[in-house]
Amino acid sequence: MGRLFAGTPFDRPPTCERCGQPESACTCPPPVVEPTRIPPGDQTARLKVEKRPKGKVVTIVSGLDPLGNDLAELAAKLKGRCGAGGTVKEGAIEIQGDHLAAAEAALKGIGYKTSRS
Ligand SMILES: [Zn+2]
Repeated sequence: MGRLFAGTPFDRPPTCERCGQPESACTCPPPVVEPTRIPPGDQTARLKVEKRPKGKVVTIVSGLDPLGNDLAELAAKLKGRCGAGGTVKEGAIEIQGDHLAAAEAALKGIGYKTSRS
């Protein structure tokens, strides 16, 4: 019975489409999936200043798709421009302190449309 499938395509191990090696021997790097970024000019960043308990004030940038934007990189840029700390939280960027004008200028400089809410 062992020869039932011998010589048919079905007994061959699956091969890599790129290098032709059996998948067990393939050393191809996994395909890189580039996230789809949305051009800044097609997006509107919503800015607001929020007062938190204990008198803390944060500037919040929201309305930007977390998959369409590199929010971590954008947060780093905004922190640099505002000279303040900040974080990305639930798809929004929080900058410590009232930096509405600086954050808006930085976003406009990158090409985003902005609105104050
Ligand atoms: Zn391969």
